[in-house]
Amino acid sequence: MARLLLVEDEQVNRELFRRRLERKGYAVLTADSGLAAVALVQSDKPDLVLMDLGLPDIDGWEAIKRVKADPATAAIPVIVLSAHATSDAKEKAFAAGCQDFETKPVNWDVLFRKIDEWLAKAKAEAARKAEEEAARIRAQTEATAVLPAPRGGTRPRPALAPAPMGAPADAPTETLAPPKPVTPPTAPAPDKEKPEKDVCAVQPKRILVVEDNDANRVML
Ligand code: CA
Repeated sequence: MARLLLVEDEQVNRELFRRRLERKGYAVLTADSGLAAVALVQSDKPDLVLMDLGLPDIDGWEAIKRVKADPATAAIPVIVLSAHATSDAKEKAFAAGCQDFETKPVNWDVLFRKIDEWLAKAKAEAARKAEEEAARIRAQTEATAVLPAPRGGTRPRPALAPAPMGAPADAPTETLAPPKPVTPPTAPAPDKEKPEKDVCAVQPKRILVVEDNDANRVML
């Protein structure tokens, strides 16, 4: 159920409009001033705002500007509902950032069509942004997955290989400790002294053989 924020300072109109919108199936929040409207948009993130222009504190134009200036609420469609039918009022409203403009008295069929139209557009836009964000995260994940691969080729693999073999008990994991002190002292030395002999494939193989035998007995 779409949630609408109805901004209207005249109580009779507010109740009349609210009931009409609710009968149509919308969930309706109401605000009776510009500041209350901006606060409700920020706190409740309605799916669409129906904005009056003549309001007691900040007027509808200013309220629209504030909603549109906030990145968290800028995408929420705003349809102005006003008795200000002049082209100047309309231009100012569109300049402030509203999506559509309907004059009072309200033609409900037209307004309902516009509400559904803007709700659909906002939904499509939100879906597009979500897909864009998902694609960005996928690309980022793939990029980070590619980087560790070369490093993992030399050291993590020996650690991973023994794990399944040593799975039956704690003993095999304990046996991992003794071999490590044994091999590193021999391996790092050639690393620094003779980079050319640092053939990565050799070191992992030796570790694997030790773990395959699954015991310190071999070494002892
Ligand atoms: Ca008003």
